[in-house]
Amino acid sequence: MENTCFQIIIFKYGGAQWVWLDGRDMTYNYEDLLKKACAQMPEVSAKHERLEMPRLMVNTVGMRTTISNFKEVADALDRDPQHILKFLTREMATAATFQDSRAIFQGKFRSDSFERLLQRYLDSYVVCPICKRPDTRIVKEKRLSFLVCNACGAKSSIKQL
Ligand SMILES: [Zn+2]
Repeated sequence: MENTCFQIIIFKYGGAQWVWLDGRDMTYNYEDLLKKACAQMPEVSAKHERLEMPRLMVNTVGMRTTISNFKEVADALDRDPQHILKFLTREMATAATFQDSRAIFQGKFRSDSFERLLQRYLDSYVVCPICKRPDTRIVKEKRLSFLVCNACGAKSSIKQL
């Protein structure tokens, strides 16, 4: 009964607004309202998960740059190493090969440029744009690719690589 007599809107900044539907006086304090509202909302809106990324092991020898723990990075993002490699080589306008868990790029590159690009990869191909969780998978339908969120179920279109 109590749950049906008012409506609560929680704003992103943490404030709350409530509307009594039957015009009664308010009997709950802010904390109680917040607790009630949170209990009624799906868990996904309450917290954002973090993703643990291993530190990139970048080594440049001559005109080649190697990320020796590339497989580990791909595993942390739960993506196909080849998909990440395709993104990186396109953005960096170079060629690369994936071999024995390492990625070898043609050219000299610094680790911060890889980190910056991986952040963009994460934003475009890993993190759900709706709930901001990284628990997603890429699904192909015909010639289109979608990011499907395991947490909130959202399906978002992504750019084809
Ligand atoms: Zn989601």
